[in-house]
Amino acid sequence: TVDPRWEEVDRYLVDRLIPPDAARDGALAASGSAGLPPIAVAPTHGKLLMLLAQGMGARRILEIGTLGGYSTLWLARALPAGGRLVTIEADPRHAAVARGSFARAGLAGIIDLREGRALDVLPTLRGEGPFDFVFIDADKPSNPDYVAHALTLARPGTLIVLDNVVRRGAVTDPAGDEAVQGVRRALDLVAAEPRLDATVIQTVGEKGWDGFALIRVVG
Ligand code: SAM
Repeated sequence: TVDPRWEEVDRYLVDRLIPPDAARDGALAASGSAGLPPIAVAPTHGKLLMLLAQGMGARRILEIGTLGGYSTLWLARALPAGGRLVTIEADPRHAAVARGSFARAGLAGIIDLREGRALDVLPTLRGEGPFDFVFIDADKPSNPDYVAHALTLARPGTLIVLDNVVRRGAVTDPAGDEAVQGVRRALDLVAAEPRLDATVIQTVGEKGWDGFALIRVVG
């Protein structure tokens, strides 16, 4: 359940800090009309992704899990001239909506949408790295594999953001569902990997109680 005050605060923050944007709002509208699930990041979190990527001067960004392209458009706004973004989506219907969103935004030239299962696509990206920023937001059971792939495509200083890691508190349940297991195994991997350093921010808002992991490649 979502506390109505969380939604009220989200509305207030969006009203103050996130002006309407034809491209992003269009991506959400097109996703809704096409019947895609309403599981894009919240606007405040999309903007956080942009600010993080901008803050570190990311020029190459990788996203796993495109949906209708909403988070992709936030990330693309962080890129300087000459920057590039690769985003991976397995569902052809989602990919088609996202392609339309990128074209309407005039960003089809810098966003490279790879349609396919991420575990098939990721090994083909070796020659295109290193990526400065990686956003992981696809099927949760594969999270440990995605973190491992992200590490092979990274450089020291790369920031990996892993979404939906708190799962209404279920992350603490060792017998949780397969999504919880995917998150827990990913965090185990991060904890055991000396080249990675991380924390998790818990969040509340219109999407309920969740959180994201911020994982830095240190070496
Ligand atoms: N990042 C998007 C946003 O915030 O706008 C939301 C992504 S949605 C939570 C997850 C997406 O991952 C879905 O579109 C789903 O089809 C895709 N997906 C699921 N399994 C996948 C896989 N094995 N490879 C690539 N994409 C996958």
